Amino acid sequence: MKQWITELLALQEIDMRIRGLRTRLTMIPEEMSKLEKELKIEKSKLDHAKESFVGIELEIKKRESGIKDQNETMKKYNTQSAQIKKNDEYRAMMHEIENVKNKISDIETEQLGFMDKIEVAKNAFKSEEKLFKDREKAIAEEENELRELEGKLKAEIESQTSLREEFSVKISPDLLSIYKRLLSKKTGIPLVDVYQGICGNCHLKLTPQTVNTVRKEMQVFCDNCGHLLYPRETE
Ligand SMILES: [Zn+2]
Repeated sequence: MKQWITELLALQEIDMRIRGLRTRLTMIPEEMSKLEKELKIEKSKLDHAKESFVGIELEIKKRESGIKDQNETMKKYNTQSAQIKKNDEYRAMMHEIENVKNKISDIETEQLGFMDKIEVAKNAFKSEEKLFKDREKAIAEEENELRELEGKLKAEIESQTSLREEFSVKISPDLLSIYKRLLSKKTGIPLVDVYQGICGNCHLKLTPQTVNTVRKEMQVFCDNCGHLLYPRETE
């Protein structure tokens, strides 16, 4: 194999490595935001469970104070009733007291309903809390791993980039500029092999004339995609 091919292939190997590292690196922000989104969803589930638990707790407290108020009203009515002389007024007061008793009974019935619900809501909140804490910890670990990976990728890109300098100085400026132009397309491999007359980049058939030039290991481009060609050794 001619020297220009082996030298360019060596440089290309590094560039492909750098391209792969960069691709991996660009995926990290999206992975990070995915994790943050997941954590937000878990948090809102926890908030929701807490809200419904606290809400029921509030209803219970409201009824506790409602019962207390009604008991005080009843105490007041009882005191007043002791001072009433007229029969019809007394009956009216008894009727009021009966109303208050009914109110208390109604509140107590409601209270029992909320007491049943609060246990369920409390357990749901506790289990949601545990789930959230576990997931939060796992997400923090995943984020740390991603940050670590980010650092490693950046460091390797840097070392590969300085390594590529050593390789690129060996290549003639003309060839290097052609190669750089092909590399800047960001897809496909700049220098590709030809096997059975087919371009290794676009996979289309080359003209016999191009194939002949490739066999001579001269610098020639694919008739279709314009990439640099070299012959596969097994051909
Ligand atoms: Zn091609």
